[in-house]
Amino acid sequence: MKVLDNIRDLRGELSQVRSAGRGIEFVPTMGAFHEGHLQLMRTARESGGLVVVSIFVNPLQFGPSEDFESYPRNLEADGAMAEAEGVDILFAPTVAEMYPDGDVHTRVEPGRLGRILEGEHRPGHFAGVATVCAKLFNIVGPDRVFMGRKDAQQVAVLQQMVRDLNLPLEIVPCPTVREEDGLAMSSRNRRLSPDDRREAAALYAALRAAAASGASSTAELVAAARRVFDQHPAVRVQYLEVVHPQTFEPVDTVSPDALIVVAAHVGSVRLIDNCIVGTA
Ligand code: AMP
Repeated sequence: MKVLDNIRDLRGELSQVRSAGRGIEFVPTMGAFHEGHLQLMRTARESGGLVVVSIFVNPLQFGPSEDFESYPRNLEADGAMAEAEGVDILFAPTVAEMYPDGDVHTRVEPGRLGRILEGEHRPGHFAGVATVCAKLFNIVGPDRVFMGRKDAQQVAVLQQMVRDLNLPLEIVPCPTVREEDGLAMSSRNRRLSPDDRREAAALYAALRAAAASGASSTAELVAAARRVFDQHPAVRVQYLEVVHPQTFEPVDTVSPDALIVVAAHVGSVRLIDNCIVGTA
């Protein structure tokens, strides 16, 4: 596995791959790898092209009160895990390499989809994600980009960007990898105290209860989830909605492909999760 930190070297490597007619598979990440990231790498590798993984903690997508400074960083451990998964190139640029002027002047603004739900609670987040992904996609030139459904709205924002800007690549959504008790794996889970870690399982339990309720109205689905949260006061729900899987607008009548999305604080950690209604 090659570890590269600058754009020029990466482009040099990838132009040879491209001219040899080989596809490029890409997994963008912020590092602090867990099984969710590793599963994306495995799916990328099974697709047959050269596998590029990026690690970049992108300052543009963190709000002023968020955890950019304290976000976990461990390039050495991540590198060993990526290598064990058969990743070909690990691209880990510095902030100065990605934003040489200290800021970007041109941003990708995802519109309404970027301002609702996660976007409402994290203003500027999706513009930061879309902008860094546009840059990374232009640097790497992938055929396929592998992303976790755990961040379902992020997937929708980037699929919308690919359509709107005619980017010649496919976003491949991959299943959420969970702990044994159902908690979606996340780099932030390690910040949970042991008590909060147990309580955090209520997020997925609530989603499953809603999906399994068989309710045909949004209100009933949400009520089924609320009944689980009522038993877990340590889990402070920020939003809980049933939405259209592409637009993330609320739906009244439930269809099997609708998504139940939730964000909640447990202690000081903010967690998100979602499930497809029809997967009960
Ligand atoms: P992050 O490093 O948190 O920016 O995540 C990088 C990629 O890994 C994104 O596409 C995430 O959606 C994906 N990811 C994070 N957690 C999980 C998980 N538990 N299961 C599947 N994919 C995940």
